[in-house]
Amino acid sequence: MRYSKYFIPTLKESPADAEVISHKLMIRAGMIRKVAAGIYTYLPLGLKFIRKIENIVREEMNNAGAIELLMPSIIPAELWQKTERWYHYGKELLRIKDRHDRYFCYGPTHEEVITDLVSKEIKSYKQLPVNFYQIQTKFRDEIRPRFGLMRGREFIMKDAYSFDRDEEGAEISYKKMYDAYCKIFERCQLEYRVVEADTGAIGGSFSHEFMVLANTGEDVIVTCSNCGYSANIEKAEVLQKEYPENYSDEPEKPIEKVYTPNVKSIEDVSKYLNVPKTKIIKTIILTDGENVVATLVRGDFDINIVKVKNVMNWDIIYFATEETVKEVTNAPSGFAGPIGLKCKIIADYSIKGMKNFVVGANEKDYHLKNVNFKDFSEIEFYDLRNAVEGDKCPKCSNGVYKIYRGIEVGHIFKLGTKYSEKLNATYLDKDGKEKLIIMGCYGIGIGRTAAATIEQNHDKDGMILPEPISPFKVYLLPVNYNDENIKKIADEIYEKLKNKNIEVLLDDRDERAGKKFKDADLLGFPYRINVGKKVKDGKVELINRKTKEVKEIEIAKIEDYLWKN
Ligand SMILES: [Zn+2]
Repeated sequence: MRYSKYFIPTLKESPADAEVISHKLMIRAGMIRKVAAGIYTYLPLGLKFIRKIENIVREEMNNAGAIELLMPSIIPAELWQKTERWYHYGKELLRIKDRHDRYFCYGPTHEEVITDLVSKEIKSYKQLPVNFYQIQTKFRDEIRPRFGLMRGREFIMKDAYSFDRDEEGAEISYKKMYDAYCKIFERCQLEYRVVEADTGAIGGSFSHEFMVLANTGEDVIVTCSNCGYSANIEKAEVLQKEYPENYSDEPEKPIEKVYTPNVKSIEDVSKYLNVPKTKIIKTIILTDGENVVATLVRGDFDINIVKVKNVMNWDIIYFATEETVKEVTNAPSGFAGPIGLKCKIIADYSIKGMKNFVVGANEKDYHLKNVNFKDFSEIEFYDLRNAVEGDKCPKCSNGVYKIYRGIEVGHIFKLGTKYSEKLNATYLDKDGKEKLIIMGCYGIGIGRTAAATIEQNHDKDGMILPEPISPFKVYLLPVNYNDENIKKIADEIYEKLKNKNIEVLLDDRDERAGKKFKDADLLGFPYRINVGKKVKDGKVELINRKTKEVKEIEIAKIEDYLWKN
């Protein structure tokens, strides 16, 4: 492709509203343009990038035996009403009305449509198992769409749905998708982890997330240094039940109420009272909207609200509102403590054995010092805290957790019969009995994978795209295309690469060399060939974008570097 005949409107500056690096670079590299909040046009280069990822996904899905189809993006409300998701999905579901006043939604996911299809078309065990997938544009009406393709409202996704006769079959289908996903992210040359995830509201017995590692990731994951076991922090078990450092011979002292004006956070309390965080207990009030629970954790740890949700057996969990906090503590938030609370209290093991500790006084601007367990009602202990680096691995005996940040790009769920029950997806089994079909669902965010690739692979000059998904393999850069000799050699190399099916972008623009170098680094294709003055000696420069290694190579031998070995 010739740059002058293509369309790559690069920018020097990032747009003011771009917060994350992938968003900034995709705009600057002329890959995407914003149309409305969270809605983008994919410009040619961005689309080419996306298509590369899509093709790998498609090939591996096909290899795994999944069958491609395409469902509508507009879905009639009745289908979503049958599964009741129409009522529970909340405002993220974009609901629309047609000219006949019939309601539809713009699909954020397609369990209903595919299960309805299967319920009508699949009747016999002979037609199972089957796995259908599509690559399609979806919509989720995020309240604050930010971060470009990392979290758009409209996004391209691959979603697959497996249908099996029994649990055993469903597990085989799940494993096939697990393996296919590993191949996909390996082929994209991304550093990733597969982590055990909390199944949350979708339900089902297990689920894994595929996380691309990046310091900018929103998700926190733990990985065992020894056996490689990985989990989302939400799910990561903490085995420790005893904290020897909490125990001491010091006598229990009488409670002392101290004035702590506007001192709310653990950091502030620790500094203000000059006590270490390990001598403070945090009291966090949580609710499912109806019930309220107070949770206690040592000041140097963080409460894990998903663990609390599971202990309480709630469907959903929130931090209590200011109003609820006031109701149960009689004080504004920041001063909650376990003494005299008007709700159930549960505690993390990390506070076991503590003595003479600091808690909130349940009174504005006051804390209590020298509190001991005898001072409040008996509590039950659970694993309620977030794992931290160095915690013991639950799966092997000598490994410890390391913490990473990641971006979720894929998610696989074993769904069970949740949707087949509601949509009556049954089949006639060998024994002549009608049985429910067992389902699984499997998603990959295609645009998100593109963005995550950049979050993981960039430097101060721009993107560093992995070869299998880079829109072009070579950036061919004649430093001065007006120079007859340089032009001639550049054109020859261009034709040669094209003939070898190597995707090459020839920067034939009448621009300063400096501007071309900057754009080449920004676009981040794996290789750049500088065609300059040395052509008179039969030489050009080959630059590796990732390693920045510069090699002077003979023009006649370019092929040794680019398509042999
Ligand atoms: Zn381990």
